[in-house]
Amino acid sequence: MQTQHHAIPCDTLVTAGVLVSQNDDRQILADAALAVTDGRIAALGPADALANAYAPKETLDLSGCLVLPGLVNTHGHAAMTLFRGLCDDAPLHVWLSEHIWPAEARLDAAAVALGTRLACAEMLATGTTCFCDAYLYVDAIADAVQASGMRAVISQGVFEIENAGFKTVDAALNAAGALADRLAGNDRLRPAIFPHAVYTCSAKTLTRCADFAHSRNVLLSTHAAETARENEDCLQANGARVIAYLNGLGLLGPQTLLAHGVALNNDDIGMLAATSTSVAHCPKSNMKLGSGIAPVAALRAAGVTVGLGTDGAASNNTLNLFSEMQTAALLQKVAACDPTTLSAGAALDMATRDGADAVGWPELGRLAVGGPADLCALDLNRPQLAPAFDPVSDAVYAANGGEVACTMVAGTVLYRNGAFPGCDYPALLAAFKKTAARLVRPAS
Ligand SMILES: [Zn+2]
Repeated sequence: MQTQHHAIPCDTLVTAGVLVSQNDDRQILADAALAVTDGRIAALGPADALANAYAPKETLDLSGCLVLPGLVNTHGHAAMTLFRGLCDDAPLHVWLSEHIWPAEARLDAAAVALGTRLACAEMLATGTTCFCDAYLYVDAIADAVQASGMRAVISQGVFEIENAGFKTVDAALNAAGALADRLAGNDRLRPAIFPHAVYTCSAKTLTRCADFAHSRNVLLSTHAAETARENEDCLQANGARVIAYLNGLGLLGPQTLLAHGVALNNDDIGMLAATSTSVAHCPKSNMKLGSGIAPVAALRAAGVTVGLGTDGAASNNTLNLFSEMQTAALLQKVAACDPTTLSAGAALDMATRDGADAVGWPELGRLAVGGPADLCALDLNRPQLAPAFDPVSDAVYAANGGEVACTMVAGTVLYRNGAFPGCDYPALLAAFKKTAARLVRPAS
């Protein structure tokens, strides 16, 4: 008879009070555990069984927590944390042209790195493990995200307005190519291209971006149909609504992610479904800028993959996907005057697995054996999460994001009980504040 127990080695054994897997069966386990090795989930099952089977180097006790897959933020401009609260309660074109663009013209690589790093801290503290970013100075962004330990799809912004970040479309496309070269083989960072919008890019530039995305096999993302006015202007300038115009230029497809998608009619929705184009729904940005209500229920019913995005911190003003999930579900119910529209489960899907699919990274957004060990954990001892009858309901309707007690990316704990292991957060915050003040109120 064998007397010695042969336990399997692993890096970390994580115990979870309740585990919401978001796998294909939407399996939910009480008293569960995850064995993590080399940043991936080696096993997932009952805590007792895994404790017997595995010999971990270290343990992570989340037995008082509700464990979810790390959330995926499908649209944002991380470094715009530098402009949070700079201008609120103004129309989109005033906000952009009178406030944001002048401040952005004073940006440099160091400022973008600081703004991105602070955004990473904010997202980690609210359970996000991967984000799709679109901005300038992508090298600085890649440095900042790499140092943070997070995952990101980093998109080079392209627009035909002279900006400190680049002077020409050629320069932007060259930077996008260099980024794609640099990130080849990187397991946490992926490159992408982001023509800003149909009203800031010519048809030729949009087509060049699509050609780039196809030739480099990367995600193309763009702001599209954010407002009714955008469609009216596009119709006048180009003879087609935004979605039809993008389709005609070859920009729609399974590797395209459209941010906002608010002003969509049935033809537009049909075109998105037929081309397998995804949408990044940004409900709080749309609400705050008075853009309208995206037809999320109709998009999902048509088979369009819809993820959730916070947009930049200058137009939301937080990067908190728990808040975004709750807002998305409530807003669809208001729009339809129907409480059955966009259930808690659907909102959680959008913040996890659907968002992962939308950014072209389908192994994220679910906890499954063989998949990345990216997770967040909500402290179930908080009053707003008691008595914990339904973890999905609690995550969407009761949690505010402040309950996040732990966030892990690729097996590494990046946030734990208010602290950021591996990051000198006080120094980051001080440098960030100094830089933000300089950008908004330059010394004369
Ligand atoms: Zn945006």
